[in-house]
Amino acid sequence: MSAEIISGKDLAQELRLNMKQEVEELRKEGITPQLTVVLVGDNPASKSYVKGKEKAAKEVGISSSVIELPATIPEEELLQLIHKLNQDKEVNGILVQLPLPDHISEQKVIETINPDKDVDGFHPVNIGRMMIGEDTFLPCTPYGILTMLKSRNIQLEGKHAVVIGRSNIVGKPVGQLLLNENATVTYCHSRTKDLRNFTTKADILIVAIGKPNVLTAEDIKDGAVVIDVGINRLESGKLTGDVDFESAVSRASYITPVPKGVGPMTIAMLLKNTIKAAKGLENR
Ligand code: NAD
Repeated sequence: MSAEIISGKDLAQELRLNMKQEVEELRKEGITPQLTVVLVGDNPASKSYVKGKEKAAKEVGISSSVIELPATIPEEELLQLIHKLNQDKEVNGILVQLPLPDHISEQKVIETINPDKDVDGFHPVNIGRMMIGEDTFLPCTPYGILTMLKSRNIQLEGKHAVVIGRSNIVGKPVGQLLLNENATVTYCHSRTKDLRNFTTKADILIVAIGKPNVLTAEDIKDGAVVIDVGINRLESGKLTGDVDFESAVSRASYITPVPKGVGPMTIAMLLKNTIKAAKGLENR
């Protein structure tokens, strides 16, 4: 058996086409969604992520601007800027690119963003809304994963989903979204004993560890759906996921590649959240 590959690249492209039309319709009503990205310091990975977000926004007609700040900016100044953006009626979505320099509290920054402009879906108010199943901005990577699963009509109800990783931006929220879809969810993490005992019982396996090739075919149940969130750069410069794709592809029923898997979906969901923020404003 060879798994069907769910291409995040293709699905994200399809979603961007749909969103482009939606934005054109909104424009006719005088609404142009606006995303403001705040980039602190000059971390090359962050810069490249921000570039990708700008490019994708442009493609669908979302207006975007990037505010670049020096790594030495005092925390208070950054918080003041966020307050200003919160009040700016032209700004629908605010995204502060993480990680931030050590002297700035990421949590404080996230909690300063108006939850109605929190297109990353990281604000505790939005996380809470997600937990109780209310309509809200969902965190982009988990939202992208759910969209990938739904794009193939993969049944979630009653299935055993095993999530490896418990970060606030991927592991925890993706498990919650799967629970909201009536899956039975198990979380594994760095302190889990006998990881294979859990992974081999998963109908749906979400892997968000951040280490190359932690899982191989032996860790996967026959016919499982495998979503590889990890992005690891090998010494050779090659990008790879957390799952040994070559071996896992023969065991799974569906699998996502790295690159061109979950990554492009994350950006597409950011655009979706920005459009949602712009529409929300219209209804107020
Ligand atoms: P993180 O470092 O915050 O969390 C990693 C998690 O993995 C932790 O909860 C830890 O307990 C667990 N873990 C570590 N080693 C383990 C092991 N040997 N066995 C089991 N669990 C283990 O990372 P994160 O922010 O959640 O990101 C995870 C990966 O996903 C990274 O590679 C990151 O680059 C990638 N990522 C991709 C996207 C995307 O859009 N594709 C978005 C966010 C993160």
